[in-house]
Amino acid sequence: MRITALAGGIGGARFLRGLRAAVSPSDEITVIGNTGDDIHLYGLKVCPDLDTVMYTLGDGIHEEQGWGRRDETWSIKEEMKAYGVGPEWFGLGDRDFATHLVRTQMIDAGYPLSAVTEALCIRWKPGVRLLPMSDDRVETHVRITDADGPRVVHFQEYWVRLHAAVDAEAIIPVGADAAKPAPGVLEAIAEADLVLLPPSNPVVSIGSILAVPGIREAVAGASAPVVGLSPIVGGAPVRGMADKVLAAIGVETSAAAVAEHYGSRASGGLLDGWLVDTSDAAAVAAVEAAGIACRAVPLLMTDLDATAEMARAALELAAEVAK
Ligand code: GDP
Ligand code: CA
Repeated sequence: MRITALAGGIGGARFLRGLRAAVSPSDEITVIGNTGDDIHLYGLKVCPDLDTVMYTLGDGIHEEQGWGRRDETWSIKEEMKAYGVGPEWFGLGDRDFATHLVRTQMIDAGYPLSAVTEALCIRWKPGVRLLPMSDDRVETHVRITDADGPRVVHFQEYWVRLHAAVDAEAIIPVGADAAKPAPGVLEAIAEADLVLLPPSNPVVSIGSILAVPGIREAVAGASAPVVGLSPIVGGAPVRGMADKVLAAIGVETSAAAVAEHYGSRASGGLLDGWLVDTSDAAAVAAVEAAGIACRAVPLLMTDLDATAEMARAALELAAEVAK
């Protein structure tokens, strides 16, 4: 079986770890990773979501933090601080720096991001094929109004420095219009036996991937069933500030509203099936009324077993909707 999943960072990566545990080793998983969170710092290209997937599946992640390397040290950051050079709000540890150095060196030598990602994965052996959504630069920006007036900030500045404490007025995937899907992305969706939308941020993770022309159309037109899992449980994101970016696109923070935002494939949307948490069982009827098969199952990724069980529920729902 060939499974293709779109993924952001923590939510996507943790789900993928459960998925890999749930399927047989002969099943092939292709992950289309979000690069809208990418940021250039100190002349280095940093790809937070690709790295979170790579480190999580490659057993190098800082488990509690959910991003960055385990057993990290911070000498470079401290030395930069001693020079008065920021940004202090963005955490790049010493081990993590090596990844960004290798990536940037390869990009400067002319390799596309997809080839670089493949090379980095030779070390990490994530057990999935990890593709960036695009080799072209796409950068998510957020429009806000604060004491400095109306302005646009990089997504990382909004999320990490400002902790999404000010309202997001618009989410702009800069460069997406002109970006092309990376090699293999459209094929992986078209040739899949199952397409999954993990419980990643619907706006700045999945939404950024879908903003690359051709990807949304490929998912909507896939011959395989498309099943998603809600990142919203009990009317709130399980982790992070997804409610702030959902509000920016006029979507309520609820499991049903996110499903309706993705839409039913029967009416030009993306989903055949949607899983909500058992605490949101009351939302099932509304989602089904929107033309999306819906089941309520436990959706908290508390450990690997619970997460693998979520993946099995997605596989079962996919088998049901394929009938
Ligand atoms: P990011 O790029 O690191 O923000 O990661 P993603 O976009 O892949 O995932 C972020 C989303 O994961 C958040 O909106 C959370 O609501 C969701 N999430 C985190 N942990 C869980 C969980 O245990 N269960 C569910 N259903 N969603 C989760
Ligand atoms: Ca992210």
